[in-house]
Amino acid sequence: MSAIAASLPTDAGAAGCGDAPVLRERGQREVFCGLTGIVWLHRKIQDAFFLVVGSRTCAHLLQSAAGVMIFAEPRFATAIIEERDLAGLADANEELDRVVARLLGRRPDIRMLFLVGSCPSEVIKLDLARAAQRLSQRHMPAVRVLHFSGSGIETTFTQGEDACLAALVPEMPAEPGSARSLLVVGALAEVVEDQFLRLFAALGVGPVRFLPARRAADLPAVGSGTRYLLAQPFLAETARALDARGARRIPAPFPLGAEGTTLWLHAAAQEWGVGERTFREATTIGEQRARHALLRRRERLSGQRVFFFPDSQLEVPLARFLARELGMVPLEVGTPYLHREHLAEELALLPPGVMLSEGQHVENQLDRCRAARPDLTVCGLGLANPLEAEGLATKWSIELVFTPIQGYEQAGDLAELFLRPLARRARLEV
Ligand code: SF4
Repeated sequence: MSAIAASLPTDAGAAGCGDAPVLRERGQREVFCGLTGIVWLHRKIQDAFFLVVGSRTCAHLLQSAAGVMIFAEPRFATAIIEERDLAGLADANEELDRVVARLLGRRPDIRMLFLVGSCPSEVIKLDLARAAQRLSQRHMPAVRVLHFSGSGIETTFTQGEDACLAALVPEMPAEPGSARSLLVVGALAEVVEDQFLRLFAALGVGPVRFLPARRAADLPAVGSGTRYLLAQPFLAETARALDARGARRIPAPFPLGAEGTTLWLHAAAQEWGVGERTFREATTIGEQRARHALLRRRERLSGQRVFFFPDSQLEVPLARFLARELGMVPLEVGTPYLHREHLAEELALLPPGVMLSEGQHVENQLDRCRAARPDLTVCGLGLANPLEAEGLATKWSIELVFTPIQGYEQAGDLAELFLRPLARRARLEV
């Protein structure tokens, strides 16, 4: 057996939950809307501004999710649609143009402006695509104006990032010829990007680019030589847009935990024809460090039963990580959307017998959760407090999107996020 085969899971690609039936539910949902994505995207693209065209509710959501920035110039805001705007679209467009002109006049540092649609802007059918085109013509070359929807009608909060990245894809320059490059897709913390860059360099895989880039002018090129790795499991639209530009996805599990990170890197290494000895040399130390960090958490998490409400779309990769690397027992893994193709490698690694559910009927799911009495419930903020009051330990799924959790160095922190609510509850019960 080769060194690589010895260390990679032997059942990678086996059935797991690949063919498991999925409970599909449609009913009331308890999720945040896509505007939430602005909270991490504005930190990531450092010269972009996100202008939500919405209501006071949208403004409140953003303020409470992001907190108030006292020292920095804010890089998001809400243009409030007043009641009188509902009567005349022409007025709303003129007002939007005025707001944008004022904003850009005051903030010469802005290089990319996103007009972000909301429920109210969609209800009054304000055409933000056309507005973005009109405003781009007016403000180019200094500022590029794009648009995407963060509306809560039929979305979950991570779809905001998907919509934003999908809006960037048509703006990416064409890769000359069919030059080969690796594109890592999905917003990652800078520290994580830097770690991955070092690993890919050691593997000889490259050039490596990231979408989104840290600055608007650094949008990566794309073409038929582009191979991309998804760093997040909620990027279906972005993947479609990249495919349409000739790029090709490298199928892989997601880089969560020691195993997930190794398999993710290995998929790229195989695409580049990297020898297995080189692969082991480049990854062994990181992988061992991650496994060591997980070991002592495993002692405390092993055997704990976990229940996922659908929220972030990270549920399937997280359940795989918790089950395989920490010995936890996933009872139900609910996800807003189950993208079979992007999750194929993950589903194959999930232990058989896990109940998968897609969509939500919150009352039914709460009944199942109460009946199962899991040791830990991963859910949105709206459900966490009532479940805690019923004596269940909960983990806010949104924290998993705000925290750097990908890669070897973050594996221990990721496990810790699940350990903390259990430790807190144990203290309360003493
Ligand atoms: S976009 Fe819709 S769901 Fe989101 S805050 Fe605004 S009104 Fe609420």
